[in-house]
Amino acid sequence: MVGLVLVSHSRELAASLARFAGEVSTARIPVACAAGVGSTGAELGTDALAIAEAIRSVSSPEGVLVLMDLGSAVLAAETALELLPEDARAGVRLCPAPLVEGAIAAAVRIAVGDGLEAVYREASQALAPKADHLAAPAGGQPHAGLEAADAGEPYQETTATLRNAHGLHLRPAARLVRAAARFQAEILVGNPRSGKPPVSAASLNAIATLGLAPGEQIVFRARGPEAREALDALQRLAAARFGEEPEAAPAAPPPAAPQAGEPQGTLQGIPVSEGFAAGPVLFLARTTLQPSERPPGAPDEEWAVLLEALRRERAVLDQERQEVSARVGTQRGSLFEAFQLILQDSAVLDPAKEAIFKRRRNAEQALAGGIRGVAERYRELADPYARQRAEDILDLGQRLLRRLRGSGEQALPAEKAQPVLLAAEELSPAAAARLDARVILGVLTVRGGPTSHTAVLVRALGIPCIAGLPDSLLRLPAGTLAAMDGGAGRFWVEPDRPNLVRIEAGRAEWLRRKAAAAAVCLQPAISRDGRRFFVEANIAGVADAQHAVAQGAEGIGVLRTEFLFLNRARPPSENEQLEALQGIAGHLQGRPLTARTLDVGGDKEVPYLALPTEANPYLGVRGIRLCLRREDLFQSQLRAVLRAAALSDVRLLFPMVTTLEELDGALSQLDRAQAGLTRDGIPHRWPIPVGMMVETPSAALLIDAFLERVDFVSVGTNDLTQYSLAAERGNPALAGYEDALHPAVLTLIRQVAAAAARRGKTAAVCGEIAGDPVAIPVLAGLGVSSFSLNASGIPRVKETLRRLDAAAAVGWAEDLLRCGTAGEVRRRAAGYYEALPGGEAGSA
Ligand code: PEP
Ligand code: MG
Repeated sequence: MVGLVLVSHSRELAASLARFAGEVSTARIPVACAAGVGSTGAELGTDALAIAEAIRSVSSPEGVLVLMDLGSAVLAAETALELLPEDARAGVRLCPAPLVEGAIAAAVRIAVGDGLEAVYREASQALAPKADHLAAPAGGQPHAGLEAADAGEPYQETTATLRNAHGLHLRPAARLVRAAARFQAEILVGNPRSGKPPVSAASLNAIATLGLAPGEQIVFRARGPEAREALDALQRLAAARFGEEPEAAPAAPPPAAPQAGEPQGTLQGIPVSEGFAAGPVLFLARTTLQPSERPPGAPDEEWAVLLEALRRERAVLDQERQEVSARVGTQRGSLFEAFQLILQDSAVLDPAKEAIFKRRRNAEQALAGGIRGVAERYRELADPYARQRAEDILDLGQRLLRRLRGSGEQALPAEKAQPVLLAAEELSPAAAARLDARVILGVLTVRGGPTSHTAVLVRALGIPCIAGLPDSLLRLPAGTLAAMDGGAGRFWVEPDRPNLVRIEAGRAEWLRRKAAAAAVCLQPAISRDGRRFFVEANIAGVADAQHAVAQGAEGIGVLRTEFLFLNRARPPSENEQLEALQGIAGHLQGRPLTARTLDVGGDKEVPYLALPTEANPYLGVRGIRLCLRREDLFQSQLRAVLRAAALSDVRLLFPMVTTLEELDGALSQLDRAQAGLTRDGIPHRWPIPVGMMVETPSAALLIDAFLERVDFVSVGTNDLTQYSLAAERGNPALAGYEDALHPAVLTLIRQVAAAAARRGKTAAVCGEIAGDPVAIPVLAGLGVSSFSLNASGIPRVKETLRRLDAAAAVGWAEDLLRCGTAGEVRRRAAGYYEALPGGEAGSA
């Protein structure tokens, strides 16, 4: 039988279509899907390697028909074809039919045993009946794709003002590309000032090199079935700064000449990150690799090698994105997502492909050429910040060359190594993300500046750093003793004794100030009028617990236990879960640990649970709904939590509760777990404090009935906002809806807090908004007394609470509920926050 391959940007779309095709065919047919990208395939996109694999999986002497959705799916399918050996390629036909109609028509013909050509013909004409029915304009190609069918359609247009401090650089451009990919529309982005033609919204590099500066107009054009929706979404995204918070970069004073009387060997650079340090210099070698001159192999082979290197690099970047997000926040982590997009951008791939197939270059030469071309485009930009991105791109190219050669990065000293000052011509963001502050006392570079991605990361890690030092830095013998003052941009080579003593004293004072700030964060948060607030941490596993305590967490408000279930082949056993809970409790020194039961579904996936694909996962079998259907999983979690609570202050929290039936179901499962432990004679705690997340409007509106059954509640504003405003979280096209300061959400929070207070129970807030200092007076004013947030935000939240007059905030916050929009609330809240006493001048 002919095999059928369905290529789509969306994994869900392809899976549903495969089911649909299976149902209309009279016999079982070989169908494979290649859809979605990312580690679980949940992100929108297509991958040539996955398509080639899908073709192989259904190939037979009868051949294979490949159907694609649109845009890059077509390019990826063509690439996949080139990845196949010549003989296998001959039996594959890429079919231009529309995906749904083509798949159904093809499935019917395959099932009756037609050959490849007949199946191809039938699929190609599959749009004809619909076109006839709707009297398609003459000349409309029944099998043409979206672009061709709409070729004459005029574009709709909208403009927005660019509010990002550094223009439309990599991170915001990546958000734009991802948002645009969600719509069935051909979208262009333009810079009217430049006079250049608009570029495709699918190309990150093309967008980021448009040279759009802050305050300039950005033009979006779209045509196709969802053009209007796309333009509205892009305009909202621009208004929301493409998801980017204003970045606080230190003002860079102009480099000063060494002061008179300064010892010899003093160098002046650009201050990037404050702090004093002294130690031996270690050089991070920057060997610039040149592409190999070896004669090329067959183009197919070279191309396959190149694609494999790109695939591996994308996987590494994905891991780096997660690590950086966990260490210094998701906003910084998104840079690595931008790098991933660069690697699949036609601006890199098209020239590389041409070099291999038309100019007979090897994979390294082709890749280096593609990267160089893109870097040149960044270099030509007027804005110095945008020009700096050329270095990031070239660094990415170097990483790819190393990947092609199978050689790794230079190892950086870690943990127990001798502490050093790290010197380099330049440090890439990827290398910065790997720095261990315990052994890297300071960073010194010749190139780079205070606004580079590297600078942002190094500052977030609290490592002193100077950039812009003279070349002579790199000629020092390795191990030379040196010292630095990052805040002043001064660097001393072999400092004399008095100078060294001065630097050591500066370092001691700097560390003392840091420790004092840390000690303050360990103190409780009591408002100016004497109200005590609790500030806890959201964590994902044992590794985060110690950090949370050091940041001043008074407990763990939410342990997202789903992370214990990820990156494994099967669920953790009851004992493994018990061990993890005990490991976390061991770091908490008696502080409470709130273990939230498994919340998978939605955006969190666990492949081995083999959950059925759902059209709307956020509205599907998620969180408690899944646990109630998978008693095996639920029982082992409940038993582990009850057992851990025998020795430590462990509490239980149910996620995603919507109805009383769900809560009652969960509570009876808990009774069952307890009865089982009693029967088995296993020590455990009973009763245990039980809470539930308030993440759905239903739970908030029926809060009194829920509070009769639980001891505490925690408002998950990330989900409460998405469900209240009917806007999928994380969807960049809906970024403008993501603010939990929306009056509708605040009204629900106020109702929950008031109901809990009436019963003397705790209502905490644990969504991202609990880490936003501007939102703290609002939430406190609405009656929230407990917050749970990412650990690194705890010191600032505590400091905000200490500056607050909680009683005075009540009336003010009530008044905010009369605002019509989140924007209005946020503006007023920002003003209130700025005016809190002890702000600018008074607090550290
Ligand atoms: C929330 O929804 O606000 C929450 C804290 O839960 P999660 O982000 O894990 O869904
Ligand atoms: Mg949630």
